[in-house]
Amino acid sequence: MKLIFASANKNKINEIKTLLPQEFDLLGLEDIGITDEIPETGTTIKQNALLKAQYVLDFLNEKKQNFSVFSDDSGLEVLSLNNSPGVYSARYAGIPKNDEANNKKLLEELKLVTNRKARFVTVITLIINGEIHYFEGEVNGTISYEERGKTGFGYDPLFIPQGYRSTFAELGAEVKNAISHRANAVNLLIDFLKKQN
Ligand code: IMP
Repeated sequence: MKLIFASANKNKINEIKTLLPQEFDLLGLEDIGITDEIPETGTTIKQNALLKAQYVLDFLNEKKQNFSVFSDDSGLEVLSLNNSPGVYSARYAGIPKNDEANNKKLLEELKLVTNRKARFVTVITLIINGEIHYFEGEVNGTISYEERGKTGFGYDPLFIPQGYRSTFAELGAEVKNAISHRANAVNLLIDFLKKQN
């Protein structure tokens, strides 16, 4: 089954390719000729997930192409920062988005904070046969006191999932893909798609 993933983020595409069974043929934005950045003007993660999927669907409709499309919008919520950066996770340190600057800013904001509880959330929006479906995943954890590890992307060098001492960036792809917010949401997506077939 061919699925369009409304993302240009190579890290996300790789994670999702690893998680999806082989029967699903995943195409990213580059593969279908979308090079513009999709505007994320929503005020919630769910709204942005829908915006991205709808943008791609409209693009395909104009070309009279009919595929199922899904998107992933994710964010990091830090309890002692009133769940910031949340929907603004990508642009936390300003525009243009920069993972390194975001991580620095987060460490700075938490410099004097001992409650370092946080969670990652992902909302996947799937548009299939004209219907919209949402799949949500999360993982709880804490924010470390310094960046650690080399794998993954975004806030991975700072996020220590519950039950571990290492950050996602230290734990590596295999562990992250077994427990992450994205993996939890993708597993719900897979269950749903398998029932459709
Ligand atoms: P978006 O879902 O692409 O809008 O990403 C929001 C922000 O969260 C970006 O700064 C990403 O780098 C970051 N982010 C999204 N998913 C992850 C993840 O799995 N690990 C670490 N950071 C992530």
